[in-house]
Amino acid sequence: MSDNTIGSEGRVHNRLMVLEQREGVLKGASVDLWHRMQMECGGSELRAVLLGPVDGENPLGQLLGSGVIHHAGDERLREYDPRLYGAVIRSLFEGEGCSELLFADTALSRDLAPALSVRLGASLLSGCSALPRDRSCSRRLYSGAAEGNFVAASSRAIFTISPSSIPLELATGTVPEVLPLAIPALRGDDLPSIVRQVVMQVGMVDVAEAAVVVAGGRGMGGAEGFTLLEELAFLLGGTVGASRTAVDEGWRPHGEQIGQTGKLIAPRLYIACGISGAVQHLAGISGAGTVVAINSDPHAPIFEATDFGLVGNVGEVLPDFIAAIRDFLKMQ
Ligand SMILES: Cc1cc2nc3c(=O)[nH]c(=O)nc-3n(C[C@H](O)[C@H](O)[C@H](O)COP(=O)(O)OP(=O)(O)OC[C@H]3O[C@@H](n4cnc5c(N)ncnc54)[C@H](O)[C@@H]3O)c2cc1C
Repeated sequence: MSDNTIGSEGRVHNRLMVLEQREGVLKGASVDLWHRMQMECGGSELRAVLLGPVDGENPLGQLLGSGVIHHAGDERLREYDPRLYGAVIRSLFEGEGCSELLFADTALSRDLAPALSVRLGASLLSGCSALPRDRSCSRRLYSGAAEGNFVAASSRAIFTISPSSIPLELATGTVPEVLPLAIPALRGDDLPSIVRQVVMQVGMVDVAEAAVVVAGGRGMGGAEGFTLLEELAFLLGGTVGASRTAVDEGWRPHGEQIGQTGKLIAPRLYIACGISGAVQHLAGISGAGTVVAINSDPHAPIFEATDFGLVGNVGEVLPDFIAAIRDFLKMQ
């Protein structure tokens, strides 16, 4: 068995990471986490479990670096089922004598990690802002206003890691070994199954996965105001996001909400339009790269969190902005 968690002095312990797929496609957030672990472990062996089948030719080809991926490709794992997912992870974690379990911070891990922490008797540290070291991790507190360091209290720990827009420098050339994994026999104390799944309509790309996010708030004035944002997002190859107000007003679906009670995003570019910048909203964008805001109020708090700010009415600024981007693209 490999011993692969980084400690101080480069010492390593034993860690298992969860790779997610959705509708047969690897989830970007977990691929990103796998690569961040590769970078930080500097070539030492990683171990991951991938739940569900992945489609296409060489579907795991995007996973670079060394290590072992246990692939539970059973069709019954295509849809998220806490009972089966929990059983596979638990059996591998215990069978391999692991002490740490890592997830990307996603809707799935927010559901599964707390339940698994009870079944495994493991401490749960969710929303870590970086990979854990020495069984501890840093987390943003008070909606990003402070940062604290937390240490797992029990000998087993589960960490969920927030997305990051910090670019990856990956060494190509090595690929992980993929080992097939079967669903284990279920036990009496396994997690419950899903009774009914409700699929919400979201934009073309999930806001949590997009490289460019153009979001709107109350300042967009209504659902029709978002047509401009859809156009801008399309031109920039991104997707549309929303503040909670825009969602509560029924202008956008909840799947697009960014923030404390929405999704955490880590795009390379984030453009906030008619969004004031409440702490609960900012909590969702701390992983973003370049942040741009358009707001008619020069004192709006969002401007304290931006790299570029534009004071103006979105109804006037956005059409000019879109026209300028169209002209620029025509020249390419
Ligand atoms: C427990 C809790 C959890 C929450 N979770 C979230 C969350 O996950 N995500 C989230 O977003 N919020 C969340 N909120 C709500 C949050 O506190 C704010 O109320 C919300 O983010 C405000 O949304 P907004 O910026 O769209 O609206 P407002 O705060 O009303 O801001 C609208 C902005 O638009 C500007 N504006 C108006 N007209 C124009 C125009 N024509 N052109 C340009 N600018 C214009 C205004 O100057 C203003 O700055 C949460 C609140 C609580 C209490």
